[in-house]
Amino acid sequence: MRCIIAGQLVCHGLRTGRQPSLPQSLSMYAMLARRTRRWPSVSPRLFSTSPARRLMETTGFTDTQLAVRDAVGQICSRFPNTYWQERDQTEEDPKDFHAALAADGWLGIALPEALGGAGLGISDATMMMQAITESGAGMAGAQAIHANVYATQPLARFGTDEQLRDTVPNIISGKWRVCFGVTEPNAGLDTLRLSTAAVKQPDGSYKVSGQKIWITCAQVAAKMILLARTTPLARVQKPSEGLSLFCIDLDRDQPGLDMRKIRKLGGRAVDANEVFFDNYEIPADSLVGEEGQGFRIILHGMNAERCLLAGEALGLGYAALGRAAQYARDRVVFQRPIGQNQGIAHPLADAYIKLEAAKLATYHAARLYDQSGTEEEDRASVTQASVGVACNSAKYIAAEAAFNACEKAVLTHGGMGYAAEYDVERWFRECLVPRIAPVSREMILNYIGEKVLDLPRSY
Ligand SMILES: Cc1cc2nc3c(=O)[nH]c(=O)nc-3n(C[C@H](O)[C@H](O)[C@H](O)COP(=O)(O)OP(=O)(O)OC[C@H]3O[C@@H](n4cnc5c(N)ncnc54)[C@H](O)[C@@H]3O)c2cc1C
Repeated sequence: MRCIIAGQLVCHGLRTGRQPSLPQSLSMYAMLARRTRRWPSVSPRLFSTSPARRLMETTGFTDTQLAVRDAVGQICSRFPNTYWQERDQTEEDPKDFHAALAADGWLGIALPEALGGAGLGISDATMMMQAITESGAGMAGAQAIHANVYATQPLARFGTDEQLRDTVPNIISGKWRVCFGVTEPNAGLDTLRLSTAAVKQPDGSYKVSGQKIWITCAQVAAKMILLARTTPLARVQKPSEGLSLFCIDLDRDQPGLDMRKIRKLGGRAVDANEVFFDNYEIPADSLVGEEGQGFRIILHGMNAERCLLAGEALGLGYAALGRAAQYARDRVVFQRPIGQNQGIAHPLADAYIKLEAAKLATYHAARLYDQSGTEEEDRASVTQASVGVACNSAKYIAAEAAFNACEKAVLTHGGMGYAAEYDVERWFRECLVPRIAPVSREMILNYIGEKVLDLPRSY
C-alpha cells in the first residue's frame, strides 16, 4: 500500500515516520484518485475553520477541488484567528504555517509530479488559496505561500533539468522560500521600462544592479525569481525584448545585496521590501530559459497569479461576510437582532450575490487557464487571448466583491468593527491588496477597453 503511494510526498512522510492521514495528505488523495478515478468525498464536518458558517455555495465544483478545500481547511484550522491577530501586531513571519502546508506537500500543488509536485491545476491551486484566506488567515496567510505556487510556474516550464532538480524539491519541501522580484520604483506598472540590469561578465556570470520594491517575503526567502534587463532599453527594437528571467540566491553575506522592510497597512505578518542590488554577482546558471526572453516567459505565470489572487480575494470576502452575518444574528439593539433591519440585511445579501458571481468568473478563468496550452501549442479552442481576458476580469471582479464584503462586515459590526479582536478590521485592511496587485484595477480596465472593446490603447 505504501509502495503504491510512493510519490515524493509520501516518501517524505515515510522518511519521518509520519503516517499520511486523511485528509491531510495530498498524496493520499492523489493515490485514491488514481485508483478510483474520482476524488474521495470528505465529510463536511472535517472542515473546521474560524467562520461559524461557510457561506460559499459549493455545488458544481469538482471532487478534487472540494477535497483540496477540505484538506487545506483542516490544516488552516490549526492556526486560529488569534494566531493571525498576534502576528499582525508583532509582524512575526508565520513560518510554522508555511511549514505546515509544506509538510503535507501543498506547496507543490500545481507543479508536475515528475518534479515532486501534485500535478494538479490552477483551478485546484486557486481553491487552496481561497481556503487559506477564508480560514481567517487572510492575505497574510496567502502571501506567505503564494509566490511559491505561481513564481515556480515559469521555472517548472522553462528551467533546465539541473535547475529543476536543485531547486524545485527544496521549494516544495519548504526548505527554501521564494519571492518574486518584478516591481521597480521608477517603472511601476510599466513593467517593460524596468531598469534593473544584469550585466554579463566574461566568465558567463552576471552582475546585477538596480532596485526592486514591494517584494513580499524577501526577508525570509532563499530564492528570488528576478526579472532584469540584459540588453538596455535603448538597444532593443521593442521594450518587451532584452529582459531576462533569473532564479537567484538571496545571499545576505555576499556583497551587493541589501533590503529594507516597508511599513504597511495590512498583512503585516509577511514582510514587503525594497531590495537593492549593487554589482551583486549571480552565476551563469541562474538564467531561466533564453536570455532576452524573460518577459515572454514570465507572462506564463501572470495569468495563473491573477487566478490565485482572485481566489484569495473570494476567501477574504466570504470570511468577512460569514462573520458579519453571525454578528447580525447575535447583536441585539432596539430589542431585536440588528440583522432584522433591512438596512443591515440587504447590503449583506448583496455582498453574497456579488461574491457568488465573482466565484463563477474566477473558477471559469482558472478552468480556461488549465485547458489552454502555451502560445506555441496554440490550442485554438482556448486561446491565450481568451485566458487573459477571463483571468483579468476575474481578478477585477473578485477584488471588488471582496472589498465590498469586507467594508460591509466592518459597518455591520458598528464600533466593534474597528476592534482588532473581531478580525473584520484586519481583513478590511488586507482586502485592498487584490485591488492593487499584481495589476491595478485601472490597468485591467485599460486592458479590457483595448482588447475586448477595441478602444484605442491608452497606456
Ligand atoms: C502588499 C503588496 C505586495 C506586493 N508584492 C509584490 C511582490 O512580491 N513582487 C513584486 O514584484 N511586486 C509586488 N507588489 C507590487 C505591485 O504589483 C504593484 O504595487 C502594482 O503592480 C502597482 O504598481 P505601482 O505600485 O508601481 O503603481 P503605479 O504604476 O505607480 O500606479 C499608481 C496608480 O496609477 C494608476 N495608473 C498608472 N498608469 C495608468 C494608466 N496608464 N492608466 C490608468 N491608471 C494608471 C495605477 O492603476 C495606480 O492606481 C506588491 C504590492 C503590494 C501593495
